[in-house]
Amino acid sequence: MYVAFDATRKTGQKTSGIVKFILFQVLRRRRVKGRSSMGKWSFVYATFDPENEKLREALCTLGNGYFCIRGAADEAAADEIHYPGTYLAGGYNRLKTEINGRILENEDLVNMPNGLPLSFRIEDDPWFDVRDVTLLNYRQKLDLEHGVLRREIRFEDRRGRRTRAVFRRLVHMGQPHLAAQKLTVTAENWSGPIEFRSAIDGKVINDGVARYRKLNSRHLEPLASAPFGEDGISLSVRTLQSRLEVALAARTRICGGAADAAPERRTLVEKGYIAQMFTVEAQQEAPVAVEKVLALFTSRDPAISEAGLQAREAARHAEGFEDLLAAHTMVWKHLWQSFDMNLECKDGARKETILEVLHLHIFHLLQTISVNNMRLDLDVGVPPRGWHGEAYRGHILWDEIFIFPLLNWRLPEITRRVLMYRYRRLDAARRAARAAGFRGAMFPWQSGSDGREESQRLHLNPRSGRWIPDNSRLQRHVSAAIAYNVYQYYQVTRDTEFLSFYGAELILEIARFWSSIAAFSDRHGRYVIRGVMGPDEYHEGYPDADSPGLDDNAYTNVMAVWVIARGLEVLKVMPEDAVGRIREKLDLGDEELVRWRDIIHRMRIPFHGNGIISQFDGYEDLEEFGWEAYRKKYGDIQRLDRILESEGDSPNRYRLSKQADVLMLFYLFSAEELKEIFETLGYPFDHDTIPKNIDYYIRRTAHGSTLSRVVHSWVLARRDRKRSWELFHEALFSDVTDIQGGTTPEGIHLGAMAGTVDQVQRCYTGIVTRNDVLWLNPSLPQGMERLCIQVRYRGYFLRIEVMRDLLKVRALRALEVPIRVGCRDVVITMDGRDAIEFPLNPSSRTRRHGSGGPTTPPDKPCP
Ligand code: BGC
Repeated sequence: MYVAFDATRKTGQKTSGIVKFILFQVLRRRRVKGRSSMGKWSFVYATFDPENEKLREALCTLGNGYFCIRGAADEAAADEIHYPGTYLAGGYNRLKTEINGRILENEDLVNMPNGLPLSFRIEDDPWFDVRDVTLLNYRQKLDLEHGVLRREIRFEDRRGRRTRAVFRRLVHMGQPHLAAQKLTVTAENWSGPIEFRSAIDGKVINDGVARYRKLNSRHLEPLASAPFGEDGISLSVRTLQSRLEVALAARTRICGGAADAAPERRTLVEKGYIAQMFTVEAQQEAPVAVEKVLALFTSRDPAISEAGLQAREAARHAEGFEDLLAAHTMVWKHLWQSFDMNLECKDGARKETILEVLHLHIFHLLQTISVNNMRLDLDVGVPPRGWHGEAYRGHILWDEIFIFPLLNWRLPEITRRVLMYRYRRLDAARRAARAAGFRGAMFPWQSGSDGREESQRLHLNPRSGRWIPDNSRLQRHVSAAIAYNVYQYYQVTRDTEFLSFYGAELILEIARFWSSIAAFSDRHGRYVIRGVMGPDEYHEGYPDADSPGLDDNAYTNVMAVWVIARGLEVLKVMPEDAVGRIREKLDLGDEELVRWRDIIHRMRIPFHGNGIISQFDGYEDLEEFGWEAYRKKYGDIQRLDRILESEGDSPNRYRLSKQADVLMLFYLFSAEELKEIFETLGYPFDHDTIPKNIDYYIRRTAHGSTLSRVVHSWVLARRDRKRSWELFHEALFSDVTDIQGGTTPEGIHLGAMAGTVDQVQRCYTGIVTRNDVLWLNPSLPQGMERLCIQVRYRGYFLRIEVMRDLLKVRALRALEVPIRVGCRDVVITMDGRDAIEFPLNPSSRTRRHGSGGPTTPPDKPCP
């Protein structure tokens, strides 16, 4: 048994990356020791740990893409320990607040009414609260395989009565409007009355992020609360500005042995709150079970009349907990069939731990964006913090670039659906570009309901208590990420229909934006892009400059060139009639394309030293930063921006970064792709450009974003396997250990979660599509012996197995259309049920089995 990773959090404030890594090893070993029977499918906490309860709530959130409920205790209300939160995908509302004489307007992901409350009390004792009893046993388990949260408590109260309570919960993956709970109470050494209370609380506010507490947080107005039928309660509210009606209805029944009891129910109705209470006579050792089925609908849902009516109907007709559970489990089984992966490590314990966390990451990704996005035609993007908390206000940033690759190779339909979130906001992006004096589409750094810029103007530095200007909106590279995502989706799926109707328009309008923001500089004889920020948010401008923004951020400029080149490419690959239509629609004339071609030959990329790509123009003039001194002084220096601001200094003065910026290029593109881009621009791209730049920047990175370690681990994977493997572990444990010391309770980090899984999937297999060939170039990390993944390519599932000396690819169903698979410099056409093997040591020959070859290999299951 173990208390999952919590010890690191306590020390996290003062530990460096390396020390943390060592701690991880120790903790993992300690943890694995006590929980061998648990396997790789569950996340277990064996004590009640009030200090880390909010972290657990985020990590134990259950959801289905439509709504998410934090893993708060069923009986809890928001207080210093608990923060129950219920979030609807894309459920936003705007509010204004006056700060320092300025009116700030923010759009927030709204904490919706809490439908969880389900509690009990013995006789006329106070309602059950873990803090009031002596705990004999406490165990909370997140069952990743079946999507169930279970809490088991054995306690003794002040009168010496011993009681067992088991809470189970699901948020239905197959019936996205439903959640269900079951509470079973067993009197161990007593008999007597137990009163149950089932409630819906609409008095909630947004209070999950301490930094936002000075801002207005009351988003909901109560509409109605009333009982219905024999056992139902319902409540509806409306968001104040977006006027979204949200209705919850719950049906609470006694089941199991005591099901025949028909106790009288008392209903308490208040404005914004409703509860129903009833009492059951418990006999010693005879479990009493109560289940609550919750339905949630909104005025935006398709195929409904009115949200309240629909919620009541759904609650009334829903099956009981066990049947709901069976159907829910089946949907998860199917999801896992598409998303599972397996591996073998030299150290078996490590394998279990890695798989457990990878499963947790996949689990949260699928709870945030799921098959229900397609079924319900949801109009939402992927929030970097999941629908698991209120950080970043549920806004959509660029993190999708770390998330979509995983989906593209498994369930690309989800990517397609979520890309539509951007397509639908293309007009808003066009308006933003026009307002800033540009053409094309300029997407916002933070996007919410209608696609306008949602980044805040001021943010609070909790360290200094000061409100400081927030210039992060200058991260124009977010538009390039959107084009990149569209193109990658197309590369894997060849979905020409999507490209013709939506994708090309996005790419072309974004290319047009880059062409218009690029200005020709006579001084440089090249195009330049001024006044932007790169992914490194610690650099917002030049030291002591009057206005924010940097010139020629290398990442941005390369991305701009890449997007423009893809714009030109889609005009070549799309069917002629579609090209004609889109050019006419966008009024994209030949002259404009001449400029595009010029830009991809003459964009400026700044360099300094001997082949170092400058993060931006003038980077080399900045001072070196005193890393050691700051580490000594502060221990944890991930948030150097806050530290320096609180000292009256600014990161703008130093060569340091929050996260990968230049190095993002090596994360997103292969060396061959970059060589082509740089050489077309007339810059050298030598064989040592990549290692040299990695060495230069990695030493100057604070890893202040959880995305940072993902990128650094990836770019080091083939150059410094030891350091890469360490960084991979740090990235892997970012959320479970709350590596940033307090951010995970405000919401998981989905970019790092998906990024780590994607690293196993794409980086270690080297999978890419190029020129109609599925290329693999495996390189297992230091500690891994075997890796087995399943990907979907052009509609077929392929099983890819990588061993140290052998790569196997097998089609899981007969290929009707042949596909070409390449490894290193050998390309094989697979057909029918072919299975192919590529030896990874140069002396052996490639083999083919199945319909194209003499024998089918014995099919050893994945490890
Ligand atoms: C990072 C951004 C990221 C955001 C949300 C920030 O800390 O700097 O790159 O988009 O977190 O994950």
